[in-house]
Amino acid sequence: MMSVDCICGEFILVIDKSLAALPRRKTDGAIAIRSQDSEHGKARVFKLNATPKEPILVERQGGHERQYRFHCPRCTLPVAYQSTPPPVKSGPFLYIFKGALSQVQGQVPQMHSKMRISR
Ligand SMILES: [Zn+2]
Repeated sequence: MMSVDCICGEFILVIDKSLAALPRRKTDGAIAIRSQDSEHGKARVFKLNATPKEPILVERQGGHERQYRFHCPRCTLPVAYQSTPPPVKSGPFLYIFKGALSQVQGQVPQMHSKMRISR
C-alpha cells in the first residue's frame, strides 16, 4: 500500500497502486481510481481521508457536469471528486485532481523531502 499526502502535508490517501500508474481522465487530466468492480476491471483498494462538500457544476463541452468534491481536512484544498453524492465509492470512479497531491511517499526516501525543504 502507498500513502499520498496533500501538498500541505496532510495525509489524504492510501492506495494499493501508484497514482502514476493509474489512467487519467481525458476531460481534465484527473487521475481515475476505479472504486467499484465492473466488467472492465476490479476496484482498487483505497481509503480517502477528505471532507465532502456541496456539489458544484463544472462546464464541459456540450453541457455541465456535477462534481461532488472532497477537500483536504487541513488546508481545504479540493483533492478529489466523484459524480455521485458521498460517501466515497458510491460511483464507479473517484477522480484525483491533477497536481493536488504530492508524490507517492512510499517510494520517496526520507532524504529527498529534507532536501526539498532546505532549498
Ligand atoms: Zn492540504
